[in-house]
Amino acid sequence: MSYATINPYNNEVVKEYPYATDEALQEALTTGHALYQRTKKQPIAERAKILHNVAAKLRDYSDELARTCTIDMGKLLRESEGEVELCAIIADWFADHGEDLLKPEVVDTIATGAAEIHHQATGIVMMVEPWNFPYYQIMRVFAPNFMVGNPMILKHAANTPASAQLFADIVKAAGAPDGALTNLFLSYDQVTEAIEDKRVQGVALTGSERGGTAVAEAAGKNLKKNTMELGGMDPFVVLGDANMDDVIDIAWRARLYNTGQVCTSSKRFIVMDNVYDQFVEALKDKFSKVVPGDPLDPNTSLAPMNTKRAKEKLQKQLDEAIKAGANVAYGNEPIDLPGQFFMPTILTDIDKNNPAYAEEMFGPIAAVYKVHSEAEAIELANDNPYGLGGIVFAGDEDHGAEVAAQIETGMVFVNNFMVTLPELPFGGVKLSGYGREMSHIGALAFTNEQLIVKTAKPNLDNVAGGLVATDPVPANQK
Ligand code: NAP
Repeated sequence: MSYATINPYNNEVVKEYPYATDEALQEALTTGHALYQRTKKQPIAERAKILHNVAAKLRDYSDELARTCTIDMGKLLRESEGEVELCAIIADWFADHGEDLLKPEVVDTIATGAAEIHHQATGIVMMVEPWNFPYYQIMRVFAPNFMVGNPMILKHAANTPASAQLFADIVKAAGAPDGALTNLFLSYDQVTEAIEDKRVQGVALTGSERGGTAVAEAAGKNLKKNTMELGGMDPFVVLGDANMDDVIDIAWRARLYNTGQVCTSSKRFIVMDNVYDQFVEALKDKFSKVVPGDPLDPNTSLAPMNTKRAKEKLQKQLDEAIKAGANVAYGNEPIDLPGQFFMPTILTDIDKNNPAYAEEMFGPIAAVYKVHSEAEAIELANDNPYGLGGIVFAGDEDHGAEVAAQIETGMVFVNNFMVTLPELPFGGVKLSGYGREMSHIGALAFTNEQLIVKTAKPNLDNVAGGLVATDPVPANQK
């Protein structure tokens, strides 16, 4: 699929973008590699200054960024504005903390001398990003790696080219050197070509299993370190003693935010039997109140999905789920607007043989399950190929945290909406991928942990605990 902005609210083809030429890719690799040679020797504080400028520029251009993103992929303007501010927060945080996160670590060792681990840049990182948070997905990789000194080449989603280019332009306008972030409209083959190039040393992808498998395969084949941030079917567990006002207030948002197109959307509501009916009724009520319309209009509360293809795929999944026995408790009716609107829908009675039981539905469909014990809730939460995030609502937050610890995902929030912030690691297990973005863990995703052991004088008597410095000449032959 070639790159184009097609406004999903009115289906207008706003602009089409040609693929990058092979020469442009080679030029980006050359420029990026030259930059890496310089950043290796540059004090990190210089990059912190530029990253703070990036944050300031994002705030200065917030209106344009938000509009561009909304027209590219349809999300509500206020959500786009929130995303821009989140990006600025991430940039500021890594600018403030990068030096500390990357400072050499002293190793307590019995080796002779002083040992330190230095977190060094490694070279160009190829990043492949999805459309659902056009700026935030870039920033999760950009901010830490910019501080590290790794140049980056960006291949963004085919349907968010304007957002991708605007973000890269803003980074440049903030004073980042050429090659720090090069946005290219690459084909899949060109992504593979970049991964094969010896100047590329890291590969970061956020996306689906489809994209993740292809890109991880190319990275693995070329022995390139990679992080994979993939899909999710996050459980939202409601225990019998949870505060139901809080549950309802959060549940509908956790499913409908960004029109349900979030990796960490709550896709499976696992509800204890004593509050199940109340939960379903309240969710129906909340879902029935959203107002579809122009995402640029502040009165709209249900935005279109990002593309026609995404809407058609979701409808097909819903039809198959119903055919396999799922009950539609609410929704599944057309919305009489020309854009890619999908009515919020609630499914119940999904059994283990239903494809909906283990397939991510990337849109406003909530699957609700009734359980009869906490153990059953945990078992159901874990009986899933994905392991990204989750939410647990419990009367007591400490007990909620005990339940959270038994859920096999990368992130669980107790009695609250999921949040993402630069200091919190983001990522999952199982088919949700591996590695973490953001936080101190994400800062080191593409660094060389270089060990340096220094001493004034060698000491061949100290041979314990390491590679033994044996004397090649036996004593009786000297
Ligand atoms: P996708 O199809 O995998 O696309 C993601 C990116 O990968 C796009 O830039 C896409 O380019 C590219 N891509 C796909 N196949 C490729 C290949 N063979 N070679 C090179 N690049 C390739 O994902 P999506 O369906 O648009 O995005 C939604 C998915 O992302 C959901 O599953 C969601 O849960 C997941 N997600 C995960 C996280 C997380 O942090 N874990 C966050 C957000 C979203 P094109 O657009 O050109 O196809």
